[in-house]
Formats: sequence, C-alpha cells, structure tokens
Amino acid sequence: MEIACLDLEGVLIPEIWIRFAEQTGIEELKATTRDIPDYDELMKMRLSILDQHGLGIREIQSVIAEMSPMSGARTFIDWLRENFQVVILSDTFYEFAQPFMRQLGFPTLLCHTLEIGEGGRVKDYKIRQPDPKRCSVKAFHSLNYRVIAAGDSYNDTSMLSEAEAGILFKAPENVIEEFPQFPAVHTYENLKLEFCKASVRDLQP
Ligand SMILES: [Mg+2]
Repeated sequence: MEIACLDLEGVLIPEIWIRFAEQTGIEELKATTRDIPDYDELMKMRLSILDQHGLGIREIQSVIAEMSPMSGARTFIDWLRENFQVVILSDTFYEFAQPFMRQLGFPTLLCHTLEIGEGGRVKDYKIRQPDPKRCSVKAFHSLNYRVIAAGDSYNDTSMLSEAEAGILFKAPENVIEEFPQFPAVHTYENLKLEFCKASVRDLQP
C-alpha cells in the first residue's frame, strides 16, 4: 500500500503567518521556514512579536476565518484521496488549521498544538516530536507503507528524503536549486502527474 504525505501551508493553503503579517502590517511576521529554517527559533520570534503588539489567538483566528484553500486544492486532494491514503504532515497548529480542514473535507492532519493563556495570549507551543515529518514517514514505513511526499519548503526536505519519492510543489528557487534530487512542479495538474509517476500502480491523473 502507498501513503501520500502532503505539507499543508504553501501546498494546499496560503501561509497563515504571512497573511496575518499583511493584515496587521507587522513585517517581521512575514518570515517563514523558507527564511529561518530553524522552526524553534522562528516560533520564539513570532510569539515574542505577538506579545509586543498585544496580539493573541483571537486576532489570528479572525484573520484565518477570512482565508480559503488555494484555488484547485480541494479538487486535487479529492483526487489524491481516491488514489492514496492521504496524511497531511504540517508544522502548523490544530488551533489554526481547523477552518481549512472543513474546506478540504477533513483529511487526516498531524501537526502541533498551542498553549493559550488568559485573554487568548499565545503562551507557548507544543511540538508533537522533533523532526515530525521525517518521523512520521519512518513510522509509516514501519507499518509497511510506501510513502510519496510533497512539500514546498526547507521543513519538508527531511520528509521528502525519507520517503520513497519526494516532490517539490511551488517551492522557491533557492530550495529547488539546493535540492535538485526532487522533481519540482508548480501546478496541481503536474503534481498529479508526479504522484502517478512515483506510484508503483498504474494510476490515471
Ligand atoms: Mg509549507
């Protein structure tokens, strides 16, 4: 059996922190794992900026409430789920992702959690485990699944390397150049073709 592992932000939905940065006008919040590969460093910076501006989970969720998956994402994931068991492996938080999961038909999502304090302050975050994407792929291997994975950024590359096949989707040029071993595509149609190529079965895109 084959499992498809997909990143969430940048693959199916827009980057939440970037949208929040645009809405609040706080430039420093535009940094993502594309800019700061160390996720812990990135999150600590984000939480301290939220505190400095007196912003919390309510303000973030009200921005998320206005967001939608990327155009074509729902059709793509519906196709993928007809052909594979699909698991979304994300470095986002359940508190952020829920509205998108509804719009994507509630696929399985493995991600992190936030610790919310008084008045909605984001006190801390709980990473499910270190290097969660790679560990998840390893776990699926231990269950005798073959894994095909797709993601857009640095935090996906350990997952792509661990999988039998890894695909870069809508990745920036620097990531594509640094990881030439992965095919890089920019449309859902081409992503379907890559999943078909990577599969051991004869699938129709
Ligand atoms: Mg991403």
